[in-house]
Amino acid sequence: MGGGVDLHSHTTASDGTLPPRELVREAARRGVRVLAVTDHDSTDGLAEAFDEAARWPPLQIVPGLEINCDADDRSGAAAAEVHVLGYCVDWEAAWFQDFLSGQRAERRARVTRIAERLATLGMPIDPEEVFALVQEGAAGRPHVARVMVKHGYVKSVREAFDKYLRAGGPAHVPRKRLTPAEAVAVIRRARGVPVLAHPGLADRDDVIPALVRAGLMGIECYYPEHSAAQTSHYLALCREHGLLATGGSDYHGPRTGRTARPGTPAVPMDVWDALQACAASARATAPGV
Ligand SMILES: [Zn+2]
Ligand SMILES: [Zn+2]
Repeated sequence: MGGGVDLHSHTTASDGTLPPRELVREAARRGVRVLAVTDHDSTDGLAEAFDEAARWPPLQIVPGLEINCDADDRSGAAAAEVHVLGYCVDWEAAWFQDFLSGQRAERRARVTRIAERLATLGMPIDPEEVFALVQEGAAGRPHVARVMVKHGYVKSVREAFDKYLRAGGPAHVPRKRLTPAEAVAVIRRARGVPVLAHPGLADRDDVIPALVRAGLMGIECYYPEHSAAQTSHYLALCREHGLLATGGSDYHGPRTGRTARPGTPAVPMDVWDALQACAASARATAPGV
């Protein structure tokens, strides 16, 4: 049984399979008291999540999002995807919503380019099939992968990523680059708390000092795919840089090939107090828009 604090989750506003209302119910059933809804490049699930959470006291929603970025190439290495979480942003600000729709439009263009690549590899798909899977929010590689499974080109979403869609894979198309430092700056300008997501997946600790200079306030230490050694490594980095240590399940709903449920791994309740203190300081120190 999970519980407590879960600062990372997705809904149908991006690539999750549960609508916000159902995500909130599932979290409440599992004893989560503080749930951050953090869709990719979208805050479109937040209003519904807040509305539903009002029926599930003491559950509280933290408004958030997850911005997908590409780190600078290291010589010889493929560009790594780096994700930056943003909490307690002024998500209703018009300029911020404009920024997010620009990011999503770029994602749509990218899906079309991936479809062109797949056609040359003998696996034609119609980009419209991909967009049809997206109820609202951001189309992404997970949707492409599901269409590939449907056509029988691969057996699973994981296989689609491993063989074709992963960074450096034959059907991979890089995004127009947004650097992690730019994402951190956007979140600070929106008076929010930027946190480096699941650093153990990207394996790009080299970017952390520059992100701290750009205004990074935390690192996601508690994460389903982090080993115990990685968790303690990132907790130590947080102490070293004076950063908030956050965590969450990255729950995407059932049937997504991910096994962590809302509320797992356990995140200490005092992380929520520390996040609120960071949010207050982010509001007090935000640069003017
Ligand atoms: Zn992520
Ligand atoms: Zn995520």
